[in-house]
Amino acid sequence: MKPRGEFDREALPASTKFYPAQGVTLRGRGAWRDALCPFHDDHSASLRVRIENGAFRCMSCGARGGDVLAFLRLRNGIGFVAAAKRLGAWRGS
Ligand SMILES: [Zn+2]
Repeated sequence: MKPRGEFDREALPASTKFYPAQGVTLRGRGAWRDALCPFHDDHSASLRVRIENGAFRCMSCGARGGDVLAFLRLRNGIGFVAAAKRLGAWRGS
């Protein structure tokens, strides 16, 4: 069954709030931050996070995505709508 409603990108949380809430501590300053990658056993902060849009890329295991929603989907193995709802970015049922 196709869910009714629509995605509200503007409602997505800021990457600087989202990632720490996911247990991912962002290190450094500037447009890209470093973090321990939660997708593999990381000891060298292989994950790069772009602050502006929440995009992430692991230089070690290759995990990647374009925004915080993509991160939540990958982390939890959930679909687009479920992730949008969890982030408060889904309007409707
Ligand atoms: Zn990784």
